Amino acid sequence: MKKYHCDIAVIGAGIVGIATAYYLKQLKPDVSVVLIDPVEPMSFTSAQSGENYRNWWPHPVMTSFTDHSIDLMQEIALKTTNRINMMRRGYLLCSRASTIDNLLEALQFGYSQAEAGAEFIRVHNASDNVAYQAPHLPDWQSAPDGVDILQGAPLVQRHFAGVSEDINVLVHIRRAGSIDSHSFGQYMLQCYKDAGGERLVNAVDSISNTGSGFVINVNDTVENASRVSITATQLVNAAGPYLNDIAAMFGETLPVHNILQQKIAFEDVHQAISRTLPFCIDLDPQQIDWTNDERDVLAGSSEYRWLTEIMPGAIHCRPDGGDNGKWVKLGWAFNDRPSSVQRNPELLDAFPEIVIRGAARMHPSLKQYYNSLPRAHRHYGGYYTMTEENWPLVGAMQTEGAFVVGAMSGFGTMAACAGGELCARGVLGLPLPDYAAALSPARYGDAALMSELASLSAKGVL
Ligand SMILES: Cc1cc2nc3c(=O)[nH]c(=O)nc-3n(C[C@H](O)[C@H](O)[C@H](O)COP(=O)(O)OP(=O)(O)OC[C@H]3O[C@@H](n4cnc5c(N)ncnc54)[C@H](O)[C@@H]3O)c2cc1C
Repeated sequence: MKKYHCDIAVIGAGIVGIATAYYLKQLKPDVSVVLIDPVEPMSFTSAQSGENYRNWWPHPVMTSFTDHSIDLMQEIALKTTNRINMMRRGYLLCSRASTIDNLLEALQFGYSQAEAGAEFIRVHNASDNVAYQAPHLPDWQSAPDGVDILQGAPLVQRHFAGVSEDINVLVHIRRAGSIDSHSFGQYMLQCYKDAGGERLVNAVDSISNTGSGFVINVNDTVENASRVSITATQLVNAAGPYLNDIAAMFGETLPVHNILQQKIAFEDVHQAISRTLPFCIDLDPQQIDWTNDERDVLAGSSEYRWLTEIMPGAIHCRPDGGDNGKWVKLGWAFNDRPSSVQRNPELLDAFPEIVIRGAARMHPSLKQYYNSLPRAHRHYGGYYTMTEENWPLVGAMQTEGAFVVGAMSGFGTMAACAGGELCARGVLGLPLPDYAAALSPARYGDAALMSELASLSAKGVL
């Protein structure tokens, strides 16, 4: 058996494990780190990301956390002359609501720690003279901050003519957009390797806790005969949907579950979606636009009847591939049933038609694609690994020397930098930011925080 020693073993080379390894070497270059994963880096959940980012959350702790992550992504964008293709046209939250009081209250709470005070949230209606800066350019450096609320269908149509005429309110989150997550992960991985970080292409299959560290046994996937044993003083569990399999190896359980979510991407051959449209989210629940015949058939099937009932809001759509691209991405995280994890999850065959119909309510031009998705399309999916409250788990586990960074649900790409940096700081014993305790496993001992989170009506799942 081959033997190997390192200071810190990071298990999992998804975007979150890579970011953690990157910050470990950035913060303490002389520490020895090994990043272990049997598959290509970022080829599991991280390959399924919609690649969107936002600083909008229903709670100021998550707003601060993702704001900091965006700061760190911007640093990388600057260092690489934007090799990570960071764009910032914002998120457009659309609703048919006639009043915005509840929305305003939620925004004010979520952004309660924002610096710019009252001017941070700007409400516009058809008669006001305050300029609304439309997102004509993708550039992240010139885009405004804060939130613009467009009130009234005429104003909405003036700026976003393609959206359905019944949309009465648009909330435009300005610090939001998209990045190329593959280049982003590759950049951090390359820096990690350049700094002397090592990679092992193996699966961890058992861990023993020696009291002063860990013995991690990995399965050599190439030659089963030659097994490798790693001794590490500290370990980081960054195994994504397999967080609990790793935790179980040293007798712990984490409060996370996995929910399969799906997306489609397709070539917009009819140019139905404007290339300058921000990431659009239809907040309102809906009944999918089936014909009467289709509805009758679905309603008569015990397997598919649910498709005729009221579906939750938050279907989303955005142009993909930049201003000169041709593709569009659609997603709808309506599934709320936890499942066991498979390397190649079974997708719902009907999902592409469901999501096209659902998105056509907000973008009627998508009706051209009913029952005729272009030949060039991709249907894909992966797991949202999440806690009940949809906050990540970053920090020390109960076992001395073991840390977790994960449960990043539908926000792991945008939160990888702040999550990785936070975990690395904890491992290295460096000072922690204000939000550290609230995001760590220790929060379950904070009854007041947990009861506050249980009382929130929105969890920020998109
Ligand atoms: C459909 C979909 C859309 C999404 N859209 C967005 C978005 O727009 N924006 C955003 O910010 N986030 C988005 N996300 C979320 C984001 O993709 C995830 O939160 C993130 O990729 C999780 O990264 P991870 O590194 O924790 O997990 P993973 O990428 O799953 O990496 C975990 C790694 O651990 C390895 N591993 C597991 N077991 C072992 C073992 N025993 N030994 C060694 N290695 C092991 C696995 O092989 C894997 O490579 C989306 C997710 C999905 C599913």
